[in-house]
Amino acid sequence: MTQPRSLTNARLADGRLVDIDLLDGRIAAISPATSAPEAQDRLDLCGRLLVPGFVDGHIHLDKTLLGLPFQPHRPGDSIAERIAAEKALLRHLPISVEARAHVLVAQVSRFGTIALRSHVDIDTDYGLSNLHALLSVREAVRDVMDIQIVAFPQNGILRDAGTAELLDEAVATGADLVGGLDPAGIDGDITAHLDIVFGIAERRGVGIDIHLHDPGALGCFELRDIASRTMASGLQGRVAVAHAFALGEVEPAVFGATAEALARAEVAIMTNEPGAAPMPPVGRLRDAGVLVFAGSDNIRDAWSPYGNGDMLERAMLIGYRQGMMADSDLCHTFAMATALPARALGLGTDYGLAPGARADLVALDAGSVPEAVAGRSGGRIVIKRGRVLGHR
Ligand SMILES: [Zn+2]
Repeated sequence: MTQPRSLTNARLADGRLVDIDLLDGRIAAISPATSAPEAQDRLDLCGRLLVPGFVDGHIHLDKTLLGLPFQPHRPGDSIAERIAAEKALLRHLPISVEARAHVLVAQVSRFGTIALRSHVDIDTDYGLSNLHALLSVREAVRDVMDIQIVAFPQNGILRDAGTAELLDEAVATGADLVGGLDPAGIDGDITAHLDIVFGIAERRGVGIDIHLHDPGALGCFELRDIASRTMASGLQGRVAVAHAFALGEVEPAVFGATAEALARAEVAIMTNEPGAAPMPPVGRLRDAGVLVFAGSDNIRDAWSPYGNGDMLERAMLIGYRQGMMADSDLCHTFAMATALPARALGLGTDYGLAPGARADLVALDAGSVPEAVAGRSGGRIVIKRGRVLGHR
């Protein structure tokens, strides 16, 4: 059955067993489960845990090498070296950006991701070609995936003259947000870099999502600068910073001042659990009122051979790395892959397991959210706009 009128015997996160009526791709009503006999237009979930679909807050659809045989990783010591290595690799691939992006969207969809934010490389070499590829993918998959696109200056803005104009054009062409990259570490001029990024956001009326790997006190200085610019431009709630390694490696006073500034400006932080790199402390940021959400970031690309796009596994990795053991901790890492990125992406009341919301749901083979996270529950039934996309 691809379009059931109701889902029966669904286990909610609070333990209740319910039936859910669906209408026009949305949740019409939620009521206690009845033992009504099987009907053709019902999908019996048999007590599976039903949750809102996963939201991947940070992915790079144009970078993945999925669709090709496994590619050996090419190491690079600095970000600049790895940018150059990626360019060399991607220049001669036998399949298009579009084809690779389609493979990745299909893969994350099977894991239960129903919305994602993808960065797309914008530079003077690619121009807007990768953006056009992703705009076409977005249109083609609109029934299975909601896609936001960030115009991302992977080569820097100042160090690749002409990129500022391309970023502006990218937003005018259909990118939803403007990105940035290490204002100090890549461009060497924090003020000039952020002037351009915030200038485009204000002029075009879009949000901002900046990659920030700059370390320690320098990175925290940049975070506070971003926070104060966010307040000045009235962009509270529409600015995110990815990685923000600096928050994981500064003394408490600097951390406290920076977290307070981020919370006040409603600047969100994205982490993917960055392997050996320092990581923003999720619990301390949550306690300080900072929204921290998860994303896959690199999946099988020139930056990392790892990753599969499973946001439940991502929640587990974050909890494991940060020593989060209690049920409440596991529920929080789960929220980092569902409700919190939904808030960061501005999905609003369309998202969630409540009457009126879109029926974008995942049924998991688990009895509770903590069990699903800890066990990286494998079984999935993915439902998008009320349509069953498939079982896994
Ligand atoms: Zn990234």
